[in-house]
Amino acid sequence: MTKHDYYEVLVVSRHATDAEIKKAYRQKALQYHPDRNPGDKDAEEKFKEASEAYEVLSDAEKRSLYDRFGHEGLKRTGFSGFSGFEDIFASFGDIFEDFFGFNNMGGRGRNRSAGSRGADLRFDLSISLRDAAFGKETEIEVKKPAGCTVCNGSGVAPGSAPETCRWCRGRGQINQTQGFFTISTTCPHCRGTGSYITKPCKACKGQGRVLETKTLKAKIPPGVETGIRLKLNNEGEPGERGGTPGDLYVFIHVEEDPFFQRHNNDIICQVPISFSQAALGAEIEVPTLNGSERLHIPRGTQSGDLFTIKGAGIAYLNGMGKGNEIVQVIVKTPASLSSRQEELFRELAGMEGERVDKEKGTFKKFFK
Ligand SMILES: [Zn+2]
Ligand SMILES: [Zn+2]
Repeated sequence: MTKHDYYEVLVVSRHATDAEIKKAYRQKALQYHPDRNPGDKDAEEKFKEASEAYEVLSDAEKRSLYDRFGHEGLKRTGFSGFSGFEDIFASFGDIFEDFFGFNNMGGRGRNRSAGSRGADLRFDLSISLRDAAFGKETEIEVKKPAGCTVCNGSGVAPGSAPETCRWCRGRGQINQTQGFFTISTTCPHCRGTGSYITKPCKACKGQGRVLETKTLKAKIPPGVETGIRLKLNNEGEPGERGGTPGDLYVFIHVEEDPFFQRHNNDIICQVPISFSQAALGAEIEVPTLNGSERLHIPRGTQSGDLFTIKGAGIAYLNGMGKGNEIVQVIVKTPASLSSRQEELFRELAGMEGERVDKEKGTFKKFFK
């Protein structure tokens, strides 16, 4: 299916503020909400489309990627739209509560009390500049909570049973009367579960969860830079009571390279050349991200001159080509001379009528 422009989907300008975007999405969400349009496939598509647009435009990073590279740019963040309603409600639960008020929308609202979505997790990954340039498939080891297998996640020691909460008599809710209203709130003593664990499971200390190390595959696209997040769907903390798991965000950190400096998608390096090479011209070998390349230095090159090797830089995240490598040549002055070299330099100086220091002679020992 072709994707529409997100700004057009929400009917906002490209310079819309966050508040304008939220307002526009609220309108669309109200209009196309599945509870108001049961069985209407067209409304369902529109709802998904608006949600996708909102997910992107409400996130500064995704929005800027979208502004620069369009839908293509977002592919690299791992975000490719929502698979269905559950996905949307899991991501936007809080916003819908804000839009519609709790339980106002009936059906869908109830999913939230049935099971809450697991928390998102963050994983920091350091990679080399080379890996950032060419991309990499790597394995990461993530510590995350998993259901305890000893107590099947109940947190109760095998053979014992939880006791009914005395405060709410097992209801999980307590009523408070304020003026004319009776407000029902979650029981703070059992946190809404209606029961107490008197003998906690030893393996998980009554938490029902244990930390587990899981090895995950992460695919780093070529062109990433420090600060970019990759999203691994459903690899966050597990949900509670059947809720969907959270997502795992891999935060990329690109390490400094001893040789290359990055400037957007170009890389810059300095390469030393000799006096003679600078004066006479030469073919030199320069390092590149994937090895080395020959570069011709013309005669009369000055120290600090820049040369460009096209396409030897870092790939653009949207897959549209690569930056360049910029080589800055530095003319190196010889620090010590053989007597023959000294002779030639003096001859050269003489030809050009330059005044130079006398030979060091006996002082040589003290001043190198
Ligand atoms: Zn346990
Ligand atoms: Zn209680």
